[in-house]
Amino acid sequence: MFLIPKVFLFTPPFTQLNTPYPATAYLKGFLNTKNIDCAQADLGIEVILSIFSKSGLKHLFSLESGVEKTDNSLRIHSLQEEYIQTIDIAIEFLQGKCPNFAYQIAGRRFLPEASRFKHVEDLQWAFGTLGHQDKAKYIATLYLEDIADYIKECIDEHFGFSRYAERLGRCAHSFDELCEALHQKPTYIDEILFEQIARHLNTQKPDLVCISVPFPGNVYSAFRAAQYIKQYDSSIRIAMGGGFANTELRSLSDARVFEFFDFITLDDGEAPLIHILEYLAAKRPIDLLKRTFVLINNEVQYINNSLEPDYKQNQLGTPFYADLPLNRYISAVEIINPMHKLWSDGRWNKLTMAHGCYWGKCTFCDISLDYIQRYEPLTAAYLCDQVEQIIAETNERSFHFVDEAAPPSLMKAFALELIKRRINISWWTNIRFEKSFTEDLCYLLKYSGCIAVSGGLEVASDRLLSLIEKESV
Ligand code: SF4
Repeated sequence: MFLIPKVFLFTPPFTQLNTPYPATAYLKGFLNTKNIDCAQADLGIEVILSIFSKSGLKHLFSLESGVEKTDNSLRIHSLQEEYIQTIDIAIEFLQGKCPNFAYQIAGRRFLPEASRFKHVEDLQWAFGTLGHQDKAKYIATLYLEDIADYIKECIDEHFGFSRYAERLGRCAHSFDELCEALHQKPTYIDEILFEQIARHLNTQKPDLVCISVPFPGNVYSAFRAAQYIKQYDSSIRIAMGGGFANTELRSLSDARVFEFFDFITLDDGEAPLIHILEYLAAKRPIDLLKRTFVLINNEVQYINNSLEPDYKQNQLGTPFYADLPLNRYISAVEIINPMHKLWSDGRWNKLTMAHGCYWGKCTFCDISLDYIQRYEPLTAAYLCDQVEQIIAETNERSFHFVDEAAPPSLMKAFALELIKRRINISWWTNIRFEKSFTEDLCYLLKYSGCIAVSGGLEVASDRLLSLIEKESV
């Protein structure tokens, strides 16, 4: 029993390099409203920064590859001293810490080059004569990708910048293949992950570790992390939640999963987490948990007997980003396209305008899922309060609203509130293309600081639209 369980939240490798994934920040912001002691970490950026450092590359190049090297890997290996001597500057440049190195990097005589540079696009056309910063970011990104290719070819085939061992995560519903991999010797990435976890466990000394798993590319690392934590201290309880559990683990029945985790929660994490904390503090019996899988008498049981409702959106507090290593994220330019660049370049505070999706009618979408079906928008005033609080905490005025489809009426109200309060921010979001986006609304959004929108087209043919019984917009 714990009087007040201490919580440590983390996102396992890998999601994004340029900005934190928001799930732990949302949970920490919520736990702050309850005065519950809690720390958070993004192990993805920590592992990447450990590999892509002078000491990390020295270690990498000293490893026996175990496979025959390709010409590309031989080239990179033979240039290892150039990589080791330049990596810290390249990373600091991508962290925005030494912008004047753009001239040297863009001049293409500073960083070593391998196969990623073979088909480099027309840089003069893309960046002109003044776009040194972006050009240098693009070149430094290719340089990192060359090193990533070396890791994949020689050391660890599962490696990727935004995912790790994704294929194993994609077949996790059967668990056999993943389980087998977890009983193999730890990989190169695993060992680096363990070092980072040990550092946090030593300083945080948590009673409960919550691992947020958004995508299949985080699943293997989540299990490896849980396995390590159980060996480190078997009294630490471990919970898993997030997008992957919400979509792929709804029919979980394999008891082996509970060799790694004590709790697996579905859908919004706040209420299930409070229920788990009350259970660990012996203030709630196990059969009154909320949307949580547990193992009882060696049987997987889904417990959802609590009558307490979920928290309303305006009871969740404001996502808390300030204790994440905000000045250490890496801005990469992977594609020469101004819109796509936003996904990997720059640090964005992530927020949502609403719970759920107002659109709710894409044919390919499982709209029965709670995080889509239960539409609950915030008010413009509440959103602006959150924006002001996050600016005060992070000193960062860039926002990405990560709604699946931001509601146009709320975007309009939000823009008007920003203008009324004279809040200067840059923001962008994801939308569905629909009639509500009039020319006037677009001008208003732009005036409020909206720099871009991204949107998916479900279908671009009138014939198919009528077949799925939807009018064209
Ligand atoms: S916009 Fe996204 S969440 Fe909404 S219905 Fe379409 S696919 Fe589903």
